Amino acid sequence: MRRVTIFGSTGSIGVNTVDLIARAPDAYDVSALTGGRNVALLAEQAIALNADLAVTAYDECYDDLRDALSGTGIEVAAGADAIKEAAHRPADWTMSAIVGAAGLVPGLEALKQGKVLALANKESLVTAGPLLLSEAKAHGATILPVDSEHSAIFQALVGEDIAAVERIIVTASGGALRDWPAEALHKATLKDACTHPNWDMGQRITIDSATLFNKAMELIETREFFGVRPDQIEAVIHPESLIHALVGFNDGALMAHLGPPDMRHAIGYALHWPDRGHVPVDRLDLAQIAQLNFRPADPKRFPALRLAYEVMEARGLAGAVFNAAKEVALDRFIAGEIGFTQMAELVEATLSTLSSEIVTSKPLTLDCVLAADHLARKTAAGHVTAQ
Ligand code: NDP
Repeated sequence: MRRVTIFGSTGSIGVNTVDLIARAPDAYDVSALTGGRNVALLAEQAIALNADLAVTAYDECYDDLRDALSGTGIEVAAGADAIKEAAHRPADWTMSAIVGAAGLVPGLEALKQGKVLALANKESLVTAGPLLLSEAKAHGATILPVDSEHSAIFQALVGEDIAAVERIIVTASGGALRDWPAEALHKATLKDACTHPNWDMGQRITIDSATLFNKAMELIETREFFGVRPDQIEAVIHPESLIHALVGFNDGALMAHLGPPDMRHAIGYALHWPDRGHVPVDRLDLAQIAQLNFRPADPKRFPALRLAYEVMEARGLAGAVFNAAKEVALDRFIAGEIGFTQMAELVEATLSTLSSEIVTSKPLTLDCVLAADHLARKTAAGHVTAQ
């Protein structure tokens, strides 16, 4: 029986992870589940999976969680420190699915156990990739990618030599506004940006798909996780979202990974790794699909992609500044303070304002990443955009 912990169990990735684990109750022993404000769901999951511990990120949610779990024998805790403490509870497999920069510390702490960290929280790799990888190495831990594109790349590389890789192509659906003329994008509203054509995801990642900031994050993630150069990484628009990524080798072969747009595939792969096990996702019917389409991802139309290459070249603290500025830009767009195209302008302005802070010859430390995150949030929040 494997001991598992899920950080962010009440989110979209968390719920899919719980779904897979609940289907094989004899195979897993659940150590801890953590959530945020959705205390009712967290309590329901903790009872269904008979978890040892349930933690909410927010102190003010403690009483509700304690009441919901009263009489069950399940331990209850609240706050960021309690989440960090949950990462120290023994677990063979940990899912990192908290959204945003808050996912970094629990993931880093979990690596200290020297076991498997299934990493959905892409912000960890974008903000502190080298730190995460060196921590994994130091403790003999394994990081498995859960983003569907990176799981696809990982699977295409099994048994291959990374030195034989010429290029990695990451596909993008193009998001809600992919068929809008570029000159109309500045008029896009919150509602326009929130309707994803293929994937059913949370509001924030759906908007990030429309700006292609999500893809920009994934390009940086690819650079950090697989250690390839920025010029080896490409993004291509693939409206069907059936090919998640392709790896091109030095003999001209291009290995594509296909699967339905269902995150349980990538989560299930990480759960069963290094074996393959049954995952209850739809099987593709190629004759019915009939055709797959591709078009270039235009960096003029999607400035987030251009910024991703700048961040990949700069490295250091550029990823932390990029991610924090992007989160603030998204908050300001959702609040109606800035327009759709102003999100990229705000991130670019923040990167430019903090360019001298970004360059660091020192190894990344958690403290310098958190300080850069803080400074970038303050800078992006105070930046005045032209209306
Ligand atoms: P959701 O917003 O659906 O869920 C986020 C989870 O984090 C919830 O459990 C939420 O709790 C919890 N949470 C929110 N804020 C905090 C905080 N400050 N401290 C601790 N926990 C917190 O996100 P997703 O599941 O969509 O995404 C999770 C991660 O996976 C992200 O990094 C995302 O980029 C990545 N990812 C997501 C994909 C998807 O298909 N959704 C695909 C690939 C990667 P609560 O809801 O109870 O408040």
